[in-house]
Amino acid sequence: MKVLKFGGSSVAHADAIRATQKIVASCEQSVWVVVSALGGITDLLLEASLAASRKDAKYQELLKEIEVRHLETVKALIPPGNQAAVVGEIKGQINQLESLLEGASLIGEITPKLQDGIVSYGELLSSFLVAAYYRSEGMEAGVKDSREIILTDEHYGSARVQQSATFKAIAELKAATEGILVFPGFIAASASGNTTTLGRGGSDFTAALLAAGAEAEILEIWTDVSGMYTANPRTVKQARPIPLISYEEAMELSHFGAKVLYPPTIQPVLERAIPIAIKNTFAPESAGTLIHADGNPEGRTVRGISHVPDIGLLSLEGPGMVGVPGISMRFFQTLSEAGINIVFITQASSEHSICVGISQSQSKQAEKAVNAAFAYEIERGNIHPVVSETGLAIIALVGDQMKEHQGLSGKMFSALGRNNVNIRAIAQGASERNISAVIDQADVKKALNTLHEAFFEEQVKQLNLFIVGVGNVGARLLDQIRRQQKLLKKEMQLQLRVVGLSNSRKMNFKTSGIDLESWEEYLGEGEEADLESFFQRVSALNLRNPILIDNTASETVSSTYAKYLKRSISVVTCNKLACSSAYENYSQLKSLSRQYGASFLFETNVGAGLPVIDTLKNLVLSGDKVRKIRAVLSGSLNFVFNTYNGEKPFAEVVGQAMAEGYTEPDPRIDLSGSDVMRKILILARESGYSLDIDEISNESFLPAKAQAAESIADFLQALEAEEDHFAKRYEQANESGARLKYVAVFDSGKASVGLEAIPEGHDFYNLSGSDNIVLFYTDRYPEQPLVIKGAGAGADVTASGLFADIIRVGNK
Ligand code: ADP
Ligand code: ASP
Ligand code: MG
Repeated sequence: MKVLKFGGSSVAHADAIRATQKIVASCEQSVWVVVSALGGITDLLLEASLAASRKDAKYQELLKEIEVRHLETVKALIPPGNQAAVVGEIKGQINQLESLLEGASLIGEITPKLQDGIVSYGELLSSFLVAAYYRSEGMEAGVKDSREIILTDEHYGSARVQQSATFKAIAELKAATEGILVFPGFIAASASGNTTTLGRGGSDFTAALLAAGAEAEILEIWTDVSGMYTANPRTVKQARPIPLISYEEAMELSHFGAKVLYPPTIQPVLERAIPIAIKNTFAPESAGTLIHADGNPEGRTVRGISHVPDIGLLSLEGPGMVGVPGISMRFFQTLSEAGINIVFITQASSEHSICVGISQSQSKQAEKAVNAAFAYEIERGNIHPVVSETGLAIIALVGDQMKEHQGLSGKMFSALGRNNVNIRAIAQGASERNISAVIDQADVKKALNTLHEAFFEEQVKQLNLFIVGVGNVGARLLDQIRRQQKLLKKEMQLQLRVVGLSNSRKMNFKTSGIDLESWEEYLGEGEEADLESFFQRVSALNLRNPILIDNTASETVSSTYAKYLKRSISVVTCNKLACSSAYENYSQLKSLSRQYGASFLFETNVGAGLPVIDTLKNLVLSGDKVRKIRAVLSGSLNFVFNTYNGEKPFAEVVGQAMAEGYTEPDPRIDLSGSDVMRKILILARESGYSLDIDEISNESFLPAKAQAAESIADFLQALEAEEDHFAKRYEQANESGARLKYVAVFDSGKASVGLEAIPEGHDFYNLSGSDNIVLFYTDRYPEQPLVIKGAGAGADVTASGLFADIIRVGNK
């Protein structure tokens, strides 16, 4: 014999009920069926009873809604010819329910006893309706009122079951009946015949009692998910069903919030070694979860992750607590007398503080009781008034075998720490089967996903990207990400998701990842761009492994980095402004990055995609010392001086460089040398020198008029007028067989930039196109420098440099 329980969503509407009928029909042995109220009905009943107790006529509307839901379900399920009797019975029950609600409304009050009477109609109606439908499908199905066999005390709302009397009644029922019986879940009765309920979610428990009392072969819990998952599948998308689990582990998971099973359910079946299957009514072919005694044959450590929301912390502290016996005893006794359930006790950090976790709804009451109990000590200043905090949650790792393994809690806390989840308290293992921590409610989703990633998806790490700037470089980057996504996941176990996008006009977000085939449309549909609200959104989303990517050249964007780093959000940028700003600002960003464990990477600030900064970092980290740097760092100036050969005027060559996208939108930034100054500044700083931009000498090759130009147009005009100046410079170099290169030098702590005539045979002589070259002279490379050379400008190489930084964050 089997006991099958169908939860609220499995009987919520006609199609669901049809699915349950097919499941029952496919059983070969005799079956008892337990049903919950139609999904949502218990909530409506509770709402109606509260409305009635406030004398609010809204209860009548709610009652109507309840009636209509049931009648419509009947009409959809049962052939018209057979409907009359069923409709009649339902209307009769609704009338009785109405009288109870009227009663509550008349006296303007609701007692727990009356409330149980009212909510019991959810299951009374559903069990009747389901059995009537089964019969109309030709099954022999009767209804058995659970109140006749499940006996409880009168603790209304969550009555305690008297097991031996209950089991006896069940055994007798089993002996006396055959065929299919449908039972209302959740409801029971006291010895004096009053209706009681077993607590929210209690239909699971009804089914467990029936299975134990009737010594069923198996208890099947049919619900709306395919088993008990490694974490709540509604919060953790990557969660997956646990095929096999032990009773103890399942109990622990359900105690810690896995609502799929009501916690008391396991005890009665465990005692009789009856296995529990958790199955999906809407996907009966999926294997689901089997809970039984040998549920962990492979000895796995962490089986699941769960959380308990709405937790409050209560701490009692004071100088008068040290060495005074009996204080904790009084504290706990006070809470117990006030009916407050202690969810956990946290590790006391010192002798003069006690801290407990309780249900947030009882915080006020607990605070009052404790302050009253210690009024004397508080008045004398020996103990401080109790400190109560709310808005917290417990997250827990659960598994039988965890106690035998070291390092799990270290892994748990470091994963949370890396993701900026603040741990408020460590809950002392209520059992050896879990490790739990108290965190802010707002961090729950991120924490669950972080832990799930750390313990169940070790292979795949998700990086959540927030991209500002989708111009030339940004668009290429998005394209590269789109093309590499699959491969990165397969080869490097990195999953890249672009969650936020912004340009200067619009911004848009999508937690599950923006489709990179159509990001332009998606961005177009977004809201008005605003850097502050962008930051607020990124923070509020609170995702794990977040990265801000700045593809702009904007100072307003670069001035926001500190805020992100302080939230442990990594920053990857091709914008040079932050690293070439005041030394103080640069070094603050570097230290925030260390302090908050967030990467701050800017490889593309020098030499676009060339691995210049990364190489330099490795040199310095491995103990080498940079003495001198000589470099050609401007793709744009290279292009200009490689193209200028006295034939075309200089101004025209600059115009061509602009048109081909080799310069900044304002060519003065390149031609004045400021761009190169910034780059050599960054290299010097990364080599460990504290330098500022105004300490770099820059002897401009531009004539005075061009230097003074106030607009781009004026500037180009000045270049045209001064063609002679440039031609002379070229001729001089040419005559001595040299070529003009714009060179940056850092030597003995000093930096300079300027145009040089480079003789044949020199490392810089053959530099073509937009190539960059950097020579590092270090203690290990004193004579023959370490050389890095290659294309140092262009949107594509810059985007791939950014991409490499993103991967570096991922591999950290
Ligand atoms: P029923 O109405 O069938 O009793 P419940 O809503 O009580 O269903 O329980 C099923 C729900 O439990 C799922 O929809 C899911 O959101 C939630 N849940 C929470 N934790 C877990 C978990 N670890 N595994 C599966 N489901 C879980
Ligand atoms: N209908 C009740 C509830 O919603 C019992 C159950 O569904 O298990 O809590
Ligand atoms: Mg349930």
